[in-house]
Amino acid sequence: MKRTFVVTALLAATLAACQENPVSGRTQLVLVSEEQAQVSSAQAYTQTLSEAQKKGRLSTDAALNARVERITNRLIVQAGSMYPPSRDWKWSVAVIDEPTLNAWCMPGGKMAIYTGIVRKLNLSDDEIGQIMGHEMAHALLGHGRERMSRAMATQGGIALGSIVAGRDLSILAPVADIALTLPNSRDNESEADRYGIELAARAGYDPRAAIRLWGKMGAASGNGPPVFLSTHPSPANRIQALNALVPQMTPLYEKARR
Ligand SMILES: [Zn+2]
Repeated sequence: MKRTFVVTALLAATLAACQENPVSGRTQLVLVSEEQAQVSSAQAYTQTLSEAQKKGRLSTDAALNARVERITNRLIVQAGSMYPPSRDWKWSVAVIDEPTLNAWCMPGGKMAIYTGIVRKLNLSDDEIGQIMGHEMAHALLGHGRERMSRAMATQGGIALGSIVAGRDLSILAPVADIALTLPNSRDNESEADRYGIELAARAGYDPRAAIRLWGKMGAASGNGPPVFLSTHPSPANRIQALNALVPQMTPLYEKARR
């Protein structure tokens, strides 16, 4: 009797936490609502930027800031078509002046790219378009929420009930931080590659640049793996899968260029 109750309660909780993602159609186990993920991400973002500011690490390179802004603005327009609720997101992008090879986009569209990846890999606009398209795809596909759910499970002691009920949002800020450092799953990476290259193509960025970008990343990992690869496991077949997508993405890219 008691066991039946526990099993039923667990099943009910799991079902309540399973949702079909509107972009990918994949069923995701999410313990955090989109709104909760966005609120906690915004907090983590503000904190990250204020720490960077204190250390004098927000890039003052006006040309680079304008370039990143121009590229992400084109991607944001396409994100609105891929996932209409993102039209209401308060998108923001920061250029952080650190040698790290990294870039990210939190739930709700809070983004950053590091000067290290742009300069060391000598990224073209097309390649920046690909990397930010990939990162934005993670956000549009709800991967941040999945990672936060995993971070919550990792933390163990957190009272899931109060979070699911939405009573305590502050507790999620450290979770959002932890989620940023967790690797994405291989499935999430493939999804972000697939939707990211499309986002970039529709914004007018060359799909072949995705192949060049990951090639450069692979070459750079010779001197110890870059931070980006610790949160983005890079299976050997990634470039092959992207190559297979190029023919269907090229017409979208050419249309956007006209
Ligand atoms: Zn990724």
